[in-house]
Amino acid sequence: MKCGLCGRNGFFYLRYSGHHLCKKHFIQMFEKRVKKGIRQNRLIDSEDHVLVGLSGGKDSMSALKILNDITCKIPSARLSALTVDEGIGGRNLEKARQYCESIGVEHHTVCFRDYYGFDIDGVLGKRKADGVLACSICGVLKRNLMNEWAGRHGATKVATGHNLDDEIQSAFMNIMRGDLPRLGRLGALVGSGAHEGFVPRIKILRECPEDEVRQYARALGLPHTNKCCPYAKTSLRTTVKEMLDGLEGSHPGSKYQMLRSVDSLCAIMRERHVGQAPGVCGRCGAPTANRVCKACLILERLKVVP
Ligand SMILES: [Zn+2]
Ligand SMILES: [Zn+2]
Repeated sequence: MKCGLCGRNGFFYLRYSGHHLCKKHFIQMFEKRVKKGIRQNRLIDSEDHVLVGLSGGKDSMSALKILNDITCKIPSARLSALTVDEGIGGRNLEKARQYCESIGVEHHTVCFRDYYGFDIDGVLGKRKADGVLACSICGVLKRNLMNEWAGRHGATKVATGHNLDDEIQSAFMNIMRGDLPRLGRLGALVGSGAHEGFVPRIKILRECPEDEVRQYARALGLPHTNKCCPYAKTSLRTTVKEMLDGLEGSHPGSKYQMLRSVDSLCAIMRERHVGQAPGVCGRCGAPTANRVCKACLILERLKVVP
């Protein structure tokens, strides 16, 4: 099929809108949408030091590429990247470092082993079947590390590669768990003005379906790893993902409709909790809605702290 805009060979078919686009117009459409989201949600200020959480996968590499294009034009803004090595066997983190070097972005790596004193394979190797456990432990500890590291190094925003699919999967998982307050913590900008110990998180790819991020990375030839986390196979997220993909397959546009519903729910939940400043964890001082933060609870459960 031909591109609806220029007649060149089609590269990507947007099922939900019925448009075929050539490579050039697909890249243009993708970047325009991301930049519009950044403007509309005021995700970046001219004085920001944005730290990208760079796993080396297609999402975070794409986010870094676009953020680099943007911050290059703002002399007062700063961009750097942090790769967290959770200690999961067989993961290749070299591509992240090499890509940063090739585009001149400052890059750091922090290992779970150095930071927490253990790695994920070490504490979960025996429980590989329990993906639910692995993913929530890894997610919480990674967020905790990134937030603390970002604050200590003067970053004013943490950017992650979360795409549209990630966002609606998270929303669905919160609904399944009956955890509606957590819906208020979704959105393109999380934790702005929440607490001085919390570095706001931005998700610049939130409006981009996962398969489009994959094609964007492919179209530009961005180096990235495709390897899935070995623990993810059995996680609740994977089950939810398969269900949502099935829905989109039979009803194109479902994912976007769901994202709009998530936006509405998120606004309602935030409104309801407005003025309720989060407290701090009694053990580590990190911002949390509870007496003890999730990271501390997990570390205690894993018996890695006395
Ligand atoms: Zn075209
Ligand atoms: Zn804590």
